Amino acid sequence: MNQMTVRIPFVDLKLQHLPIQTQLQQAINTTLERGDFILGRALSDFEAAFATASGTKFGVGVASGTDAIALGLQACNIGYGDEVILPANTFVATLIGVLRAGAKPILVDCDPQTALIDLEAAAKAITPQTKAIIPVHLYGQMVSPRQLLDFADTYKLLIFEDAAQAHLAERDGYRAGSVGTAAAFSFYPSKNLGAFGDGGMLLTRDADVAQKMVRLRNYGASQKYFHVESGTNSRLDTLQAAVLLEKLPYLPEWNRDRLTIAQQYDDELAPLAASGIMPVQNQSGSGHVYHLYVIKVNESCMSERQQIQDKLTAEGIQTGIHYPIPCHLQPAFTYLGYQQGDFPHSEKLAKEILSLPMYPGLSSSQIKEVTLAIARSVSTTLHPNQSPVSVGSKAA
Ligand SMILES: *Cc1c(COP(=O)(O)O)cnc(C)c1O
Repeated sequence: MNQMTVRIPFVDLKLQHLPIQTQLQQAINTTLERGDFILGRALSDFEAAFATASGTKFGVGVASGTDAIALGLQACNIGYGDEVILPANTFVATLIGVLRAGAKPILVDCDPQTALIDLEAAAKAITPQTKAIIPVHLYGQMVSPRQLLDFADTYKLLIFEDAAQAHLAERDGYRAGSVGTAAAFSFYPSKNLGAFGDGGMLLTRDADVAQKMVRLRNYGASQKYFHVESGTNSRLDTLQAAVLLEKLPYLPEWNRDRLTIAQQYDDELAPLAASGIMPVQNQSGSGHVYHLYVIKVNESCMSERQQIQDKLTAEGIQTGIHYPIPCHLQPAFTYLGYQQGDFPHSEKLAKEILSLPMYPGLSSSQIKEVTLAIARSVSTTLHPNQSPVSVGSKAA
């Protein structure tokens, strides 16, 4: 980052922690007093609370969201010789999780409006080896559970949700994490529910999957010093679970705040649609938990995405790109054999998307500043005979 003063950061975690700081410190102190740092009481309490809140049965805390995917797939008995379908348009950890489980990743394109996995493309990718599909509830919007369940039923596939960006998201009457056999969550600090470091969890309604996951995160042990399989060391720290347990009751309120912010962005950016600036579509209404608020700067826009981002940076407004390079074009994975042009919608989105500041506590006037700055960055490149676009103000 340059030295320019940031007036509106991309995320601000202090805003959510300072009002409950005493409570959080108390939770940490209680763990210090108990001394049960590994697999302690706050961990089992948080596992039960998060599973219940998400509408499912079991939670198994692990060291990260990536581990929740890798070990979670193994817990579902998915591995060598199995094909797993996932979107090319996701954070690279989804792909890494599949590879670490030993399965073969089969990437498919996304829907250009929602940026979510395209189930028609997924249907075409099915072979006799296909065992599972990983819908990624990207940006906080769930892939339609109704369509997913139909799809999985038709092709006899296991659903493994990547819900790392979708804590307590809802759609079709389902909560994220309760649609498939199992679901992976991340508690990376800036996720909708974040720890004070790394953390993750597998949710499942299947007792066998949960039991296997409990072993896999703890060296494959079914009881102390008795190892029925080869696992690893990947436990969610009791301290992190204590923090998360304390934060969980605030999550619905924080998610509502994100939705309100998104609605204001939607309203104020609506006049810019004609200039080629549009939000990624929300097709799930109030169940979207807006981990990220993402706009697309399409070809018809007179400013390049880069110009707009640079102008916002110059005005002290931080933005992000999630993600600039789709999984199949990452140098690490060229050996999988994919090429430029394989997933045109994902490739186009990677060039067009821009994530705007989004966090509970972002104020209405800050949102206005962001949208006005975007409008200015578009209108400064207008031709002289075009009038500048006004935004967010009915009077203008
Ligand atoms: C954050 C994230 C992950 C990985 O979680 P970590 O806790 O960072 O390992 C996986 N998938 C998606 C979609 C994510 O956003």
